Amino acid sequence: MKRKVKSFDDWLLVPQYSDIKSRKEIDISSNLSSKIELNIPIISSPMSTVTEATMCNSIRKLGGLGIIHRYNSINFQTKLLSYVNEEKYKSAAIGVTGDYKERLTSLVEAGLEIVCIDIAHGDHVLMKDCIRHVRENFKNLYIIAGNVSTGEGFKRISEWGANAVRVSVGSGSICTTRIQTGHGIPTIEAVFECKNFKDKYGLDSKIIADGGIKNSGDIVKSLAAGADFVMLGSMLSGTKETPGKLMYSEEGKKYKSYNGMASKIAQKNWKGSYSSVEGVSSTVPYKGTLSKVINEISSNIRSGLSYSGCRSIQELQENALFVEQTSFSHVESKPHIYNRK
Ligand code: IMP
Repeated sequence: MKRKVKSFDDWLLVPQYSDIKSRKEIDISSNLSSKIELNIPIISSPMSTVTEATMCNSIRKLGGLGIIHRYNSINFQTKLLSYVNEEKYKSAAIGVTGDYKERLTSLVEAGLEIVCIDIAHGDHVLMKDCIRHVRENFKNLYIIAGNVSTGEGFKRISEWGANAVRVSVGSGSICTTRIQTGHGIPTIEAVFECKNFKDKYGLDSKIIADGGIKNSGDIVKSLAAGADFVMLGSMLSGTKETPGKLMYSEEGKKYKSYNGMASKIAQKNWKGSYSSVEGVSSTVPYKGTLSKVINEISSNIRSGLSYSGCRSIQELQENALFVEQTSFSHVESKPHIYNRK
């Protein structure tokens, strides 16, 4: 199979007639199910430098969801989950090998409501076995599974029993999967394809666009392409609520760590050694409070919907028009005063 695939920056949304007079008229809520309703379509990634209990509590207050990462001992993860004191939607991540069954049982005993089965290549028989285990033992748990990057993968994982699917492989800002393995599909392309399969086969699973989302424009494009939610790593990294200590450069600038979960550092911190490295570790400027970052993103998403003349994410998905941009229009799409000679 050979086909051309496009990325976020290859697309623009067409501004359309709008009768929206205030951004307050725009509703950016999104539901994982009829019982799990979120005021904003944002989920923080289960990564050790993004989501532990403080992030979960803060993002829930702001209307989104946080998923506690699994790169720790069962006891530690269970303790983190017990610190999540926002009443609803306790979420954690598990894997599909090793101690995952014991981990799951321990987390369920601590009040887990949403389990995220978190593996790099989710279109895999081990994912099928894991979903079956969850369904057989804890039938009321809400299952987020992934990652997949094709419509077929989305259909399979949905039919195995996932309620929501993380979409895209190899696009994360800290990811080296494509360089090392040659595999991956750009996020927006994967979302277009999964949405197509979702509609064609009448699948109920929600689509979570995950990886490579670098600004609120990419979030709006993801939602317009068919995503119900976006999962954010780098965009939330460096906020006060992320795990890890604040560091200072020689000039006194503040920064924090942001590590790919398959990076050497993350693996060493977790299990003392590393293998199959498929990520990098990085530092990012300190961004201040999560509320500042999320409020800005939410406001930009509302503006995005208003440019398409839409009052909800569903309306956006029904009415959005995409155009392809050339490399010259891409240059024009960014501030370009600095390029002029
Ligand atoms: P970002 O928002 O572009 O920074 O991407 C975050 C996403 O990258 C996560 O939600 C994961 O799906 C993915 N990811 C996290 N760690 C790694 C890694 O080490 N290698 C590859 N992908 C990763």
